[in-house]
Amino acid sequence: MLQTYRAPEMIVTFDPRVCIHSGVCLRTLSAVFDASRSRWITPELADAKEVAAAIDLCPSGALNYKFDDSSPDKADS
Ligand code: SF4
Repeated sequence: MLQTYRAPEMIVTFDPRVCIHSGVCLRTLSAVFDASRSRWITPELADAKEVAAAIDLCPSGALNYKFDDSSPDKADS
């Protein structure tokens, strides 16, 4: 089942059926990707651009992200 991890600036999704367990995410950004936690992806622990760059390195496509433009501070008034 697709997992969704929401942070103020972005939404990260992870599909465990697609992951090939390369560990690239864990090695690239261990603060955010930590398999020892129950909420193993914590996007708010790093800059959103850093998280996006780490996700871009995922070789399987299991990880994806979307910047959240609906944040109140970014909403049009
Ligand atoms: S980088 Fe992608 S394929 Fe590798 S462990 Fe992380 S989610 Fe799985």
